Amino acid sequence: MDQPVIALKVDVDTYAGTRDGVPRLLEIFDRFGIRATFYFSMGPDNSGKTIRRIFRKGFLAKQLRTGAPSAFGLKTLLYGTLLPAPMIAASFPDILHRTGQQGHETGVHCWDHVEWHDHLPMMPKKTAAMELGRACSLFEEIFGRRPRTTAAPGWTVTSASLAIQDDMGLAFCSDSRGYAPFYPVLDGRRFVTLQIPTTWPTMDELLGKNGINAENVNDHYLSLVKPGLNVHTIHAEMEGKATVTPFIDLLQRLRDLGARFIRA
Ligand SMILES: [Zn+2]
Repeated sequence: MDQPVIALKVDVDTYAGTRDGVPRLLEIFDRFGIRATFYFSMGPDNSGKTIRRIFRKGFLAKQLRTGAPSAFGLKTLLYGTLLPAPMIAASFPDILHRTGQQGHETGVHCWDHVEWHDHLPMMPKKTAAMELGRACSLFEEIFGRRPRTTAAPGWTVTSASLAIQDDMGLAFCSDSRGYAPFYPVLDGRRFVTLQIPTTWPTMDELLGKNGINAENVNDHYLSLVKPGLNVHTIHAEMEGKATVTPFIDLLQRLRDLGARFIRA
């Protein structure tokens, strides 16, 4: 096989993931000499509101299967409901800054993850522009430059959100799942910002299904490696905390396979 190339995309969804998961991943990437792309949630951590999704089919089963309550911690599951929503990026500007200093690409995941993920399709374009605008302003304050890339929470986009991203003059976006980079067409419109899609399933999508568990999940990932570009999305809350041990093992096995790691 030609030497496989792996781009790691890190979604940072929560306050606790930023505080604990990002520093842990920085240390692991440093040890392996890997540079990745980090997408930060810039605004409030309203994770507790995901509890609403319990009433939607399948959510509770997924939470139990993936062990999300233990991965995210009880406190995180109450943010924005019984506990006030803490501001994420504003609480840890040094951690964001350090991520860029260590040579990783940094971009915007969102302002409010729950808001975007749950409500984007019903959101007026003006509100979506405000969500991204607030995130980008704080990003610029912390990094001293505009973001070059964004990645939508839950791979959720609309033609309005893609149009807003086109107006931002980004180098690329990672909003989607797919096989190879492409320019999206939606609602009859062709957009000009290159999409670099995630090509592998996330760990929480794999665990607990088809006999896949933390012990054998990496056998499955190794079977997915293709020649050329492979894009793998990980989460600061999972690979940087709850599933850090299998993740380190995955990096070692990919390295042994001769994989080259690049920033997207
Ligand atoms: Zn996310």
